[in-house]
Amino acid sequence: MAKSAEQGHPNQAFGWAATDTSGVLSPFKFSRRATGEKDVRFKVLFCGICHSDLHMIKNEWGKSRYPIVPGHEVVGIVTEVGSKVEKLKVGDKVGVGCFVGACHSCDDCANDLENYCPKKIYTYGDTYYDGTATQGGYSDVMVAEERYVIHFPDNLPLDGGAPLLCAGITVYSPLKYFELTKPGMHIGVVGLGGLGHVAVKFAKAFGAKVTVISTSPGKKEEALERLGADSFVVSRDPDQMRAAMGTMDGIIDTVFAAHPLLPLIGLLKSHGKLILVAAPIDRPIELPVYALMSGRKLVASSLSGGLKETQEMIDFAGKHNVTADVEVVPIDYVNTAMERLEKADVRYRFVIDIGNTLKAA
Ligand code: NAP
Ligand code: ZN
Ligand code: ZN
Repeated sequence: MAKSAEQGHPNQAFGWAATDTSGVLSPFKFSRRATGEKDVRFKVLFCGICHSDLHMIKNEWGKSRYPIVPGHEVVGIVTEVGSKVEKLKVGDKVGVGCFVGACHSCDDCANDLENYCPKKIYTYGDTYYDGTATQGGYSDVMVAEERYVIHFPDNLPLDGGAPLLCAGITVYSPLKYFELTKPGMHIGVVGLGGLGHVAVKFAKAFGAKVTVISTSPGKKEEALERLGADSFVVSRDPDQMRAAMGTMDGIIDTVFAAHPLLPLIGLLKSHGKLILVAAPIDRPIELPVYALMSGRKLVASSLSGGLKETQEMIDFAGKHNVTADVEVVPIDYVNTAMERLEKADVRYRFVIDIGNTLKAA
């Protein structure tokens, strides 16, 4: 039995879905499971648009199964909790990020690393335990097991906070794991998009000196004045890159377009770490091993974060006022938003105003 504050038909849901590789989204009716005893059900108010959503709706990773309701930066207000839900209650501000399930018995799960569980279940485009397709947050209602639901601090705005559930944890987790949070460290951030701009903010909150490495000279002023970066390097300018060589302790690279790693490795000090959180979608990356040898440098990668760390990140964001810079758009703008995202024409994350603009047809 669930403690409910909601009336009506519990299984009906409404969202926008892509139905083929064109990626065009349109209104879509589907169903959510009834609230199980460990489940939390919430009314979605905002959902961020991650570049992964764009990769998925266009089948750029070759694993998409249609129809797809994207969205893994989903926030809203709890409307119903199952009888075994312990920490959350009706009315709480909550969110769901990239995952809604895992095996809960492997070593990774035991270490709160559901994100590395071989049986992890993605929030959309995946298959749930019961065999149904998972669907994401471009929709009016969300149901997820409590373990996968993040509790938002009161002071963190839901629109600017939503992108932290993917973009935020994806950069926070490697900064922590690779020990790039010591105050005074010099951190580079490659690509000033959704992930990149929150990487700048978290690195600054940890006390780092931050340099943005970008293909867009036009972002310089904002990076320095609004986002708080300390310096800005245009990656296509060899003189600027040369001047920054051998200065960085760590680099978070968020660029999915093919680009050489050698110039980035050159920016690192000895023992510096280059963390790739995006992978080129069109061709494999070349690893210049000699450049790593001279300086015992490291190239690594990282996928999102576990649920315990995601809660820690959201609490840290609340305490240090870290939010994404967002352009809030209505749901019927979503296809235009995707076109603009493809051209890197967003400062710096689109967030869909689901609560006010998504109306069931
Ligand atoms: P985004 O907002 O589109 O930002 C990507 C940035 O890359 C752009 O703003 C741009 O910054 C730079 N860029 C350089 N060359 C580009 C080109 N040819 N086309 C477009 N952009 C170019 O994307 P995002 O949401 O931050 O996601 C970035 C990548 O991370 C995606 O591939 C996504 O799938 C992946 N991702 C990975 C994880 C994970 O767990 N590892 C999680 C979430 C997302 P400048 O203008 O500054 O150059
Ligand atoms: Zn994402
Ligand atoms: Zn597991």
